[in-house]
Amino acid sequence: MIDGDATSPLRAVLRAVVARDPHERSFHRAVHDVFASLGPLCEEHPEYAEAGVFARLVEAERQLLFRVPWVDDLGAVRVQRGYRVGWSSALGPYKGGLRFHPKVDLAGIKALAFEQTVKNALTGLAIGGAKGGADFDPKGKSQGEVMRFCQSFMTVLHHHLGEHEDVPAGDMGVGERELGFMYGQYLRLTRRYEAGALTGKGVGWGGSAGRTQATGYGAVYFLEHALHERDEALRGKRAVVSGSGNVAIYAMEKLAELGATVVACSDSSGTIVDEEGIDVELVKALKERRRERLSVYADERSHAEYRDGAAVWDVPCDLALPCATQDELAEHDARQLVGNGCMAVAEGANMPCTTEAIDVFREAGTVFCPGKAANAGGVSVSVLEMQQNARRETWSFDRVDARLHEVMHDVFRRCHETAEAYGSPRDYAVGANVAGVRRVAEAMLALGVT
Ligand code: GLU
Repeated sequence: MIDGDATSPLRAVLRAVVARDPHERSFHRAVHDVFASLGPLCEEHPEYAEAGVFARLVEAERQLLFRVPWVDDLGAVRVQRGYRVGWSSALGPYKGGLRFHPKVDLAGIKALAFEQTVKNALTGLAIGGAKGGADFDPKGKSQGEVMRFCQSFMTVLHHHLGEHEDVPAGDMGVGERELGFMYGQYLRLTRRYEAGALTGKGVGWGGSAGRTQATGYGAVYFLEHALHERDEALRGKRAVVSGSGNVAIYAMEKLAELGATVVACSDSSGTIVDEEGIDVELVKALKERRRERLSVYADERSHAEYRDGAAVWDVPCDLALPCATQDELAEHDARQLVGNGCMAVAEGANMPCTTEAIDVFREAGTVFCPGKAANAGGVSVSVLEMQQNARRETWSFDRVDARLHEVMHDVFRRCHETAEAYGSPRDYAVGANVAGVRRVAEAMLALGVT
């Protein structure tokens, strides 16, 4: 994919990335996927490579790896690994979520922190890129266990946070409950009510209206622009959404509000197909309040079908929104979707489609809205939360939503125009990668070798 003389600096950097950490495959992939778009940019700006911009861009500014000991309900001492990778602070303080999941490892966090850096730059807002988390599984843990773990995690991490330094938020496995426990511990340890040190807080304690909805709503706003550009609309379309967490729930809510019918969603155990349209309020009740499996949906809605162990991708649809997890949509799923006439795919999750799946969409002319653009609404409203905290203000939901609309429109416009200018019209992945990297690169040039 990366070929030609002009792109050899990119190839050399990519080779060095692999040689340096040969086992970190998910990280290699993240870098490769971005670099594959950068040939024309590299050619246009030889000064980037000369100033070592690409070589510096693939190395985190700092990586924290720490022990997180905690005591479970039986009194046994358990030990998890905590991570916080500050990738780039060229455009602002480190910003990105924390993920609690048993599969969290350094390579995955590095991949996400790199991706976040490009995404955050693309928003046009003043934030750098970061990611963190732990190999802790909140599933099946008691409230007390989750709290003790979060407190222990923050006891180590708080030294490195602050509104001007590093501002985490939630991600998979980290919602308002976990953020509350972490913020409570942050306050005890720092003795400062520094609300801007963490985003995704509850609305009653320094959070922003609309932050919960932002990633899902934002993905649908991006998709709406992409369809509009082709004289298409959401109204009347059939959609499938993978996942049933925060991103999926609010993507479904907005799709339904704008006239699409969501016929399937999923969790890690299986898929619900509801031809009458997924009852989003029921999914919210099951997942947000009752913490149940999605299979319970079919017990309560007799016309719905539960497919044990199945994914949503073979349910015929016009629109597909992967909103669950990384690498959840592989090449054969992409072929299935294309074969069933799916016209557009918008990534609500981070890197849910494999490189091969994206190639299938490219070949088929399927509208593809990459996560680093389509799911940028979450981090953008995090910035609105930081702005409110800094000014000690509380904005209305409508004000936040209106601003989210503007930001997603800007993100779309940047992707669209940049793709066109760099010879790949309508390829929003190319547009997002080039526009994001260019903004970081310009700042890095201005700041000298740092
Ligand atoms: N975890 C979210 C993301 O992947 C949000 C990050 C944030 O708000 O800092 O963009």
